[in-house]
Amino acid sequence: MKIVFLMGLGVAATCALVAPAMTQDSGVDPAELAQIVAQHPDWAVWLADPALAKLTLAGPKMPNSNWRADDIRRPQPPHVETGKACAAPPPGDADVLFDGHDLNKWTGDHFNEWTLKDGVVTTGARVYNFLRTKDSYGDAQIHVEFREPAQPHPPVNPQYHGNSGVFPMGLYEVQILDGANNQTYPDGMVGSIYSQSPPLVNAGRAPGVWQCYDIVFRSPHFSGNTVTQPARMTVMLNGVLVQDNTVLIGATIHGKVASYTPHAAELPLALQDHGNPDSHVSFRNIWVRRLSPG
Ligand code: MG
Repeated sequence: MKIVFLMGLGVAATCALVAPAMTQDSGVDPAELAQIVAQHPDWAVWLADPALAKLTLAGPKMPNSNWRADDIRRPQPPHVETGKACAAPPPGDADVLFDGHDLNKWTGDHFNEWTLKDGVVTTGARVYNFLRTKDSYGDAQIHVEFREPAQPHPPVNPQYHGNSGVFPMGLYEVQILDGANNQTYPDGMVGSIYSQSPPLVNAGRAPGVWQCYDIVFRSPHFSGNTVTQPARMTVMLNGVLVQDNTVLIGATIHGKVASYTPHAAELPLALQDHGNPDSHVSFRNIWVRRLSPG
């Protein structure tokens, strides 16, 4: 009822209603919040939740950046059209992880949440969990095709629509999210390295259209408890460069500045089930090539 009421109001009236609620728990400056909502009235309902407002307006300062983590004030990368093609048959030296027939190369703590039907595997969208490869990988070229679910209604929280992710080594997330008419903080949108690096452009396609990630992942190196070479990722989304040899500051973490904890040279690749009802994300044609250390 509250949501319908707010969405039916003009911008000025919406600001007046949302701003007081924000000051109680979020720690966000009410004048700035009112200004943001005036500029982006479609975010009003989302930002009315003090926890979400705090996340995206009052997160920790990022190192070597003028922005906070998950900062919605960051400029939105421009959208580019990418057509519908997604053809990338596995090269001869690839480990084919999923070709539509079975999930024999995969495991997980909630393995039965993942449904295989008509050559496509889909998240259960009920429990936050990961599908993990049985084999481990370090430096790798990774190809993943995914499809966003139809958007049944405007999401109150954009992070709840079609959220999944590709996690090299199970630790470093390349975000999967609906990138069409679903604005969120740029370092949390499709093509981002979650909570660290926005994509160069928004190359996301509409829900229902297959999309493809091609990722070159360079694993971190450690000496004792010290990282001697951070992880790096180059990412193509639907054939468009979105991460250009991006240096990661640590393993993916939510609402904090990432850091490294030493780990093995090879670990399983993982896919995320975000566990909320609007995040039924489907996958097909997944393969990986081991790369020489670089
Ligand atoms: Mg995700």
